[in-house]
Amino acid sequence: MRKLVAGNWKMNGLRADGAALAEALVAKAMAPTACDLLVCPPATLIADIAAIVKGSRVALGGQDCHAETKGAHTGDISAAMLKDLGCAYVIVGHSERRTNHGETDAIVLAKAKAALVQNLVPIVCVGETAAQRDAGQTLAIVEGQLAGSVPDGAAAGTLVIAYEPVWAIGTGRTPKPDEVAEVHAAIRAALSARFANGAAVRILYGGSVNAKNAAELMHVANIDGALVGGASLDAASFWAIAEAC
Ligand code: PEP
Repeated sequence: MRKLVAGNWKMNGLRADGAALAEALVAKAMAPTACDLLVCPPATLIADIAAIVKGSRVALGGQDCHAETKGAHTGDISAAMLKDLGCAYVIVGHSERRTNHGETDAIVLAKAKAALVQNLVPIVCVGETAAQRDAGQTLAIVEGQLAGSVPDGAAAGTLVIAYEPVWAIGTGRTPKPDEVAEVHAAIRAALSARFANGAAVRILYGGSVNAKNAAELMHVANIDGALVGGASLDAASFWAIAEAC
């Protein structure tokens, strides 16, 4: 399956930084690419970046959305608003949202459903903490998060899963290829048991992917791309990860 390399810019970038990064990626993506490319800028930059990536091979996504379409939710943005700006994807359930904003599986599920209603592809993030891995709970945690935060009715083409071990995010540590393969195989099995075309749902790996480790990770079975944080803030690094695919 064609891989997806997605950049999660998190809370980084003023307007000039975001524009320069997006322009550099669009320039690199002038020639056909072997994988699909996506950038998820902070909400303040989405309109600017939409104008830059329009008509290019670089797709646009949000980092989060509210479950409601509109209303009294100060500081939140809806899936409809992201769609209106030209987004095609939205990350939901990132571990930083689950941890820092108390997002439960039920909240993530509601957000993913709201994304589907707007024809946005939700990138549903799952992953265990270091303590959960040490306790041998990795597969149970990930399978529980999948069951609780992936909507019925999602399918290949309308759903992406991102396996992001919490202990690997921003730490420079990554699971070994056999460790990540075990989790991706379990995610694939869960998706195939639940959805007729579960075999075709993209499963991204995220957590300290960089230009050096991307090739090894991207060749692991059932890894269909990467969700990249820190290394997505540098056009050359992000591009090197895309080329590793
Ligand atoms: C992320 O937060 O989605 C992520 C993968 O971050 P990093 O690549 O910086 O570990």
